[in-house]
Order: sequence, then C-alpha cells, then structure tokens
Amino acid sequence: MSTDEAATLIAAVDEGFEAQVALTADLVRFPSVRGDERLAQEFMAAQMVKRGLEVDHYRIELDKIRALPGFSPVSVSYDNAFNVVGTRRAPDRRGRSLILNGHIDVVPAGPLDMWTSPPFEPRRTDGWLFGRGAGDMKSGLVACLAALDAIERAGFRPTADITVQSVVEEECTGNGALACLERGYRADAVLIPEPQHERLLSAQVGVIWFEVMIRGVPVHVANAGQGVNAIESAYKVIAALHELEEKWNARKTHYPSHASLPHPINLNVGRIAGGDWASSVPAWCAIEVRVAIYPDQRVEDAKREIEDTIREASRRDAFLQNNPPIVTYNGFEAEGYVLRDAEEAVAVLSKAHEAVFGAALDQAPSTATTDARFFGLYGDMPALVYGPRTEFIHGFDERVDLASLRNVTKAITFFIADWCGISRQ
Ligand code: ZN
Repeated sequence: MSTDEAATLIAAVDEGFEAQVALTADLVRFPSVRGDERLAQEFMAAQMVKRGLEVDHYRIELDKIRALPGFSPVSVSYDNAFNVVGTRRAPDRRGRSLILNGHIDVVPAGPLDMWTSPPFEPRRTDGWLFGRGAGDMKSGLVACLAALDAIERAGFRPTADITVQSVVEEECTGNGALACLERGYRADAVLIPEPQHERLLSAQVGVIWFEVMIRGVPVHVANAGQGVNAIESAYKVIAALHELEEKWNARKTHYPSHASLPHPINLNVGRIAGGDWASSVPAWCAIEVRVAIYPDQRVEDAKREIEDTIREASRRDAFLQNNPPIVTYNGFEAEGYVLRDAEEAVAVLSKAHEAVFGAALDQAPSTATTDARFFGLYGDMPALVYGPRTEFIHGFDERVDLASLRNVTKAITFFIADWCGISRQ
C-alpha cells in the first residue's frame, strides 16, 4: 500500500463515518438478546445483499455441531437462531483470504430504570454512542462493513476472498461461530472487532456455566427448626465455590498467559431462584454460575473440581450430606485460548494500527472469552481480536467511543488492504 493509497483510504473512512454511526445505531435498535436475534440478522443480511455480497443466511442445526469440539450444551430452542455470512469473492486471488467475524447477540439490559436512556434507543452524546450492544459488539460488526465500503469508495477492490460473519450465541455458548466452522468457512486469518480498547487480545480464559440445584425440607415457619432452608444452604455452596475461585487464582503462576493479572479467574453467581413464598421454609434453591478457567486447564478437569467442591461442602452439612446438590451444565463449556502461530497476521495488524494511531499495538490478555477460540483451536486459523474503546459493556449506559471507533475502522481498513491486497477497480 502506497502513501497515496493510504491517504485515499483514510479519507474514504472519514467520508463514510456518519453513515457508519447511523448504521450502528440502526443495529442497536434491534433488541437482539438471546432468542430474539432473528430480525437483526435479517437486517444484516439485507445490508450484505445491498453491498453485493453472496449471502448465506442459515439456521443453526444442533445435530450438525453437537459432536464437535467446542460445542456447549443448550436447553433453549434454536428455531430462531440464524447465522448470516456474506462473501465477497475476488476475481483475481492474489492476496490472503480473511474472515471478519462479529456477534449480533447482546446480553440482557437489566432493570430499565437504571439506564439514563432506554438501552435500545441509541443516543449520541459528547463523542459516545450509547445503547445495549453499541460496544459489545454492534459497532465492531458494522465497522467490518464500513471498512469494505471505504475500500470500494476509494476506488479499490480486495484481491482475496473476504467473508463477513454475523453470528448468534457468542454471549452464552459460542455455538454460532462453531456452526460457521462446521459449514466449512476457512480463511488465512480471522479478525474479530470485539471491544478490545484498541489492543490485540493475546489470550483469553475459558468459561463454564453451571446450575446447582439445592434441596431443603419444607415446613411451616412456625416449626422452622424442623425444616431445612434450601436458600440458606445455597449460601454454604456459594461460599465453597468462592474458595475454589481463590484456589484457582492462586495457581495463576502455572499459566503464563494470565499470570500478570491480579485476579484472572472470576466466579459469578449470576442468577438465583428458590422457595415458593414467605411463610414456608423453602424446599429448593437454584443458582446459575459462571466461572473462568485458564487456557490449558481442561474443561473436564475443571468440572470435576467444581463437583468435588460442592460434594465437600455438602459433607459438612447434616442435611446436604444425604441430599447432595445436583450440578447441571447448560451453556458455555469453553476452553481458553492463546494467540499462537499468528506472527504474519499480527505483523500486518501492528503496522495498520501504528499507521493510524502513531503508536505501537499493545497486546493484553482477557478475563473473558470470545469466539476467537473456535478459529484458533479448532480451525487452525490465526484469530485476531481487536476493537474500539468502550465502557460499561454488560452494564448500564453501555457506550462506544466514536473517535476510537473511527480510528479502529481505519486500522481494519488498512489491515484488509495489506492482508488481502487491493487493486484499482
Ligand atoms: Zn462481545
């Protein structure tokens, strides 16, 4: 890429940026929480068709992915779970092919009254775009399309095949990205513009979701001493699980990718339900838990430790020792991932980033997971996670920094131009 070409591409991103923000806002308006992604995916498919991409819009079939490595168990229906994949084929394939991947699903918005403005009514203030998904990661997904638009607007076309994947299920299983692998999509590299604060993800933890069902003995509260309160027993289980969390954190020196972080392993009780009403000692309590594991810590080993921990805690309790809680897995069974054997792609992204930001590209490990693991672990493709600065993702008043988004879009555009190559239209 010559200096002239670079300047033309920069100008093309700038020229298209207002339209890019508007498109991001349009996408944020779809409340694409799990099970409700269908309309947002139809919108993405239409955007790809409009751009002349060859569109593959397909429902995820569990039977096709259930036996594959990386699959996570689910109990929800996939009747409305569609992936959208758009491909732009290069007539003269000289460069290296690329997959641009992002997820359309967003996490639940939580109590609406805790947002300054409604989560699915995007708001632009002081250089930020607010809304659920604005950061994680509809801005990144749209940036992929905007980068392709900029290349075209500047009068070029990529000289390698480019595939844009809009997937579901990233926030709970990763089965959307897995379904893309199963369908045969491969490329010489993958770029995922997750909200990575302008840094390249060097490694990510694995994640396991599990539910613990705790039983009790229901009696009238008048005789509470004769019953067993399942909700209060749950606190004993939760305390034991947090002890396991600290035990795993204490092992961090064995896992170099995450050893520098103060607290790489986080365990969260994300949901609790139990009891029937206030005047009966509750006979049941269910907790839903998310815990991280290190890269190279096996999912099966971690599950065994979780179950052992709960069994140990139960042994210390008169009722639970004969009525052990039941653990079930439903959702993430994700391995960790370390970016390896990706020197060529990292070099190209570093150069692109430096050209835009005037500073070296930093790398950082993550205490969360992304879909990168599928490409890296099971598809043998270098998967780069790199995206804009955001705040409050998964919280209230989620927002993306628009100046950062603009620069990241430029870096992605340069990356495509260099990795895939460009020629005059
Ligand atoms: Zn995300």
